[in-house]
Amino acid sequence: MRLSALVIGLVLATTASAADRPNVVVILADDIGYGDLGCYGSTKVRTPNLDKLAAAGTRFTDAHSPAAVCTPTRYSLLTGQYSFRHRPGASILSGVAPLAIPTDRSTIATMLKKAGYSTGVVGKWHLGLGDKETDYNVEIKPGPREVGFDYSFLIPATGDRTPCVYVENGRVVGHDPNDPIRVNYKEKVGAEPTGKENPEQLTNQKPSYGHDMTIVNGISRIGWMSGGRAARWKDEDMADTITAKAVKFLDDNKSKPFLLYFATHDAHVPRFPHPRFRTSPHGLRGAAIQEFDWSVGEILAKLDELKLADNTLVIVTSDNGGVMDDGYFDGTGNDTSGHKCNGSLRGFKGSNYEGGHRVPFLVRFPGRVAANATSKELTCHVDLYATIAAATGQTLGANDAPDSFNHWPAWTGQAAGKPVRPHLLTQAGNFQAHAIRMGDWKLMVPPGPKMKPELYNLAADPMESKNQYDVEPDRVKTMRAELQRVREATRTRPD
Ligand code: CA
Repeated sequence: MRLSALVIGLVLATTASAADRPNVVVILADDIGYGDLGCYGSTKVRTPNLDKLAAAGTRFTDAHSPAAVCTPTRYSLLTGQYSFRHRPGASILSGVAPLAIPTDRSTIATMLKKAGYSTGVVGKWHLGLGDKETDYNVEIKPGPREVGFDYSFLIPATGDRTPCVYVENGRVVGHDPNDPIRVNYKEKVGAEPTGKENPEQLTNQKPSYGHDMTIVNGISRIGWMSGGRAARWKDEDMADTITAKAVKFLDDNKSKPFLLYFATHDAHVPRFPHPRFRTSPHGLRGAAIQEFDWSVGEILAKLDELKLADNTLVIVTSDNGGVMDDGYFDGTGNDTSGHKCNGSLRGFKGSNYEGGHRVPFLVRFPGRVAANATSKELTCHVDLYATIAAATGQTLGANDAPDSFNHWPAWTGQAAGKPVRPHLLTQAGNFQAHAIRMGDWKLMVPPGPKMKPELYNLAADPMESKNQYDVEPDRVKTMRAELQRVREATRTRPD
C-alpha cells in the first residue's frame, strides 16, 4: 500500500513537473491573411489540419501582427519589444544585413534556454546575420545561437531575396569553398543572368515589379548573388525541406522541454509550392497555403506520435496580412476565384488598415486553453513573450519584453472577459507610420504631414469606410496623446 502510494506520488510529481514546463511550438506563416484559412471562412483554400487545430483550441478574431511587414513583426515576436524602439529591427532587411536583435536583449529563446529548454528555429529568419555585412563563406555569427537558439536551420532573409541557400547552425548547407558565395544588394556581382537582362531565362514566373536581379531556379530575385551553385534551394522543395528539419528537431528533443519556432516561407512570394498542393481554385497562392496546412499537419502528427500533444502549447499565426500581387506574375494578381485573402477587411500587407495586420491566430493546449472556442480578445505577437513566460512558469526581468502583455490568465479562463490590452500600436511598412488601437477605436497617423490621419470605430465600421477623424476631435486628442506616450515610453508592460 505504502509502495503504491509512493509510486503514485512519484508519477504525480513527474507529471506536475512536466506540466510546469510544457513544450512550446510557435508556427509563424508568412503573408497569410485573415481570410485565408477554412476556419476563418475561406472556401477556396483547403486547410483541414488548421481547421482541426482550431476546433481543438481557441481561434482569435482580433489578433494582430505588430507590423504589417516581415522583419519588424519577427523582431517584436521574439523580443517582446516594439520594433520602433530599436531601429535595425523596424524595417525590412536585405539578405546581407547584420543581426538586428542586440545580443544583450532577451528573447523568448534565451528565457526558455535558461529554464532548461532545448530551443530551435527552423525556417525564415529575416532578422539579419553577423555583426556586419553577412559573409556566407565563413561561420556566421552572431545569429540565432547568440539570441538563445541551440539549433537553427534558416532561410536567411526571404524566399525572394538572395542568397538562395539554407544556413544550418551558422554554416551554409552544401557550401563549396571552390565556389564562394557573393551577395550584393547595391550592384551586380558575377556574370549570372538576371531577370532584367535575360527575361527569356525566366522559366517559372516573371517579376511584376522589382525582383529582377539574379535568376535562381528560373526565378529572378531581389539582390544579386554569384557562386554557391551546389547549395541553392529549389523553391518547390522548400516546405518539404524545412518541415523535415522541424519534425527532426521534435524527434531529437522529445525527452526534454523544447521551444520550436517554425517560420514557414508559405505563402510569401515567389509562390512556387510543390505540385502536389496545386489543387486550389486560388491558384499558386492557394496551393502555397495548402502546403502550409500540410506543414502544420506534419508538426501536429509528430507531437501526437511522440505523445507530447497534451503537454505542448501550440500557437499558429502569420507575420502580417495577406497580399495578392507581391512582385511576380504568378496568377494571383488577376485571380478570378473570388478568394479574399483578408476576408472582408480593408487593405493588404504593408498597410495599417486591418487587412495589413489582423491575422489568423490559433492556440491549442489541451485541458488548459478552451477547445472549440472563439476569442475576441485584442492580442498581438509582441505579447507572446510574457504569455509564454506565464505558461512556462518564468519570471520576467525588469528589462525583458518591455511591451509584452501577459494573456495567459485570459487564455486559460482565469480572467476571461477582462480586456488585457488598453492599447496596441501597430506599424505599417514604414516604421514611422503607426496606428493605435484603444477599445473599438483605431487612429492611424501617417508619417508625413501631407497624408490625412484616419479614425475608425471597428465595431460599427469593421471595413473602415467612414473616417471619423473630423467628427471626434476629443477622442483624437486622447488617442494622439496615448500614441505619443507609448512611443516615448521605454516600457509599456504593466507588470
Ligand atoms: Ca511577411
